Amino acid sequence: MASVKTTDGARVRVGKIVAVGQNYADHAREMGSSPGQELTYFLKPSTSILHDGGVIKIAKGIGEVHHEVELAVVIGRRSRDVHVDASLGHVLGYCVAVDVTARDLQRKAKLDGRPWTISKGYDTFFPVSDCVPRENVPDLSTLELRLRVNGQVRQHAHAADMTRAVPELISKISSVMTLERGDIVSTGTPGGVGPLKPGDTVVAELVGLASLTCKVKTRPERK
Ligand code: MG
Repeated sequence: MASVKTTDGARVRVGKIVAVGQNYADHAREMGSSPGQELTYFLKPSTSILHDGGVIKIAKGIGEVHHEVELAVVIGRRSRDVHVDASLGHVLGYCVAVDVTARDLQRKAKLDGRPWTISKGYDTFFPVSDCVPRENVPDLSTLELRLRVNGQVRQHAHAADMTRAVPELISKISSVMTLERGDIVSTGTPGGVGPLKPGDTVVAELVGLASLTCKVKTRPERK
């Protein structure tokens, strides 16, 4: 059963993962879109969760696979039609996560008008750190994300640069689908996405609060 660990050692079972697309202007631009478009989100399966020390497994023949470092928000209680001013009261805590994306499969799906599910949904495609309790994060605007591959900084941004902030995301998403305890809202990636290759080591950080280290390997062929 997929779960996230809180920093006091408790485990919270993860339900759905709601992942927001293009929530930073620089990433929207690098994807060839205009910033500020309509709110876009999609679902990743809870079976894509991977913990610190795990291995991102890339299936052969799927083309380029990209890292997308993101602030992930773990929901603490049932949330439906939540007002923007009450949103943060529904949060259990915050993690750093990597929305691993099979970019070539996603590009082809976009061109064909098909959903992105396959490109986002492989097992191990959502590495996530332990959950930092909301009480330890009094000011979301101070949160800083960083991702290194083999020691080299590839992505570095502040949560304050999001196009839509966490309260607005929770409010808007909960007006469509009820968010439950253990659901995760992954809030979109900043610019600097790039390829992951077998042999790479990925370190993602919520700077000063949480971090996550994963290796990348080729997924063994299934018989
Ligand atoms: Mg993403």
